[in-house]
Amino acid sequence: MNWPVVWKSVFTINKSSESLDNDYRIVHNIIWTNEKLHNIGKINNPHCKFCDKDSIENLEHMILDCKSVKNLHELILDFIEVFFQSSGFGIDDFHQWLLFGYPVLNEANNLFLIFIFSFARLAIIKRRVLFLNEATRVDLCILFKTLLTKHMNYLYQYMSTHGNRHIYLLLFSMNSYIEINDRVHVKFN
Ligand SMILES: [Zn+2]
Repeated sequence: MNWPVVWKSVFTINKSSESLDNDYRIVHNIIWTNEKLHNIGKINNPHCKFCDKDSIENLEHMILDCKSVKNLHELILDFIEVFFQSSGFGIDDFHQWLLFGYPVLNEANNLFLIFIFSFARLAIIKRRVLFLNEATRVDLCILFKTLLTKHMNYLYQYMSTHGNRHIYLLLFSMNSYIEINDRVHVKFN
């Protein structure tokens, strides 16, 4: 594991404070998973509430292995394919990005890729909190799309009002998924 790269990705500027906080908790492994809650006697069993009764819910299960996150994985795999047409990537890379964030690299669309993986994690954790606290089941893919789109809009407004609209355009206008008129639209397939 290349920790300096992981850290850099965690603290990438222009993430939302909520996703920054979430990434920090994941990298430090301080999410209260059912496995951890069970270990300290707070709940009766360590199993995942979203899939099989036998799966132990730890961070890896939650983000990578749970059946209930596979639709989100597929959505993101389809979505990012266009950015890797020349280089390609392996499934191990993909899992690493999901768990620890997409690295900060000197490449086109880098910040957008960082956002995608950061908001994927945030959607997974948020969905779980909504379910455990309020017994509300939300669609993970819709939640992810909503969070990412909301942030792309927030950033656009923020940078525009601070005289940095041109930088936003520089960062994201080469990206065929982003359409800007009065608002920012992220064109998911
Ligand atoms: Zn599960």
